[in-house]
Amino acid sequence: MQSPIALNSRTSGRHTARGSISYHHMSTIRLVDRGTTVSALAEPGGVLDLDGLQYTLIEIHSHAPSEHTIDGHRADLETHLVHESAEGKLAVLGVMFDVDEGEHPIDQFIGRATDSPTMAHLERIVPTTSPAFRYLGSLTTPPYTSGIEWTVFSQRLTVGREALHAFAESYGPNARDLQDDADTVVTFG
Ligand SMILES: [Zn+2]
Repeated sequence: MQSPIALNSRTSGRHTARGSISYHHMSTIRLVDRGTTVSALAEPGGVLDLDGLQYTLIEIHSHAPSEHTIDGHRADLETHLVHESAEGKLAVLGVMFDVDEGEHPIDQFIGRATDSPTMAHLERIVPTTSPAFRYLGSLTTPPYTSGIEWTVFSQRLTVGREALHAFAESYGPNARDLQDDADTVVTFG
């Protein structure tokens, strides 16, 4: 199955169990200009606990506008936090942001800020208690690897207007088209 897809809260099944999502350990993060996006690399990486499985945070990058849609809504920005388990299984958290005035924690991750974001910032860009869509999809950039465990939070956060504008000017639009989701099993809760 390929990503992104149109997510729909009404037609998705329910999770059989509410997953738990939390980060442990401190990590330093540095921003790298990848040409198509800004990539924030975690060194050596926070540990994500997803349904009892441990994943290491590898990197964080963003797309403007959002790649997934939720109930027909496309957000201004979608941030992907890419994780890998010890067995090489990939899990991506997707977070939606709508533009707002002022400065917001996500701004640190999409700009060329002189101060690198920290784990403290990281905790403020992941709405860990929000309901989320879960499905098996793919990376949305080459090599489009499938078998990726996706978690896309339905709660939208906010991104600063100036930061988003600067990001979109350098990298946008950098969202992959919606993919055929006819055979994709999505749960929500
Ligand atoms: Zn992405």
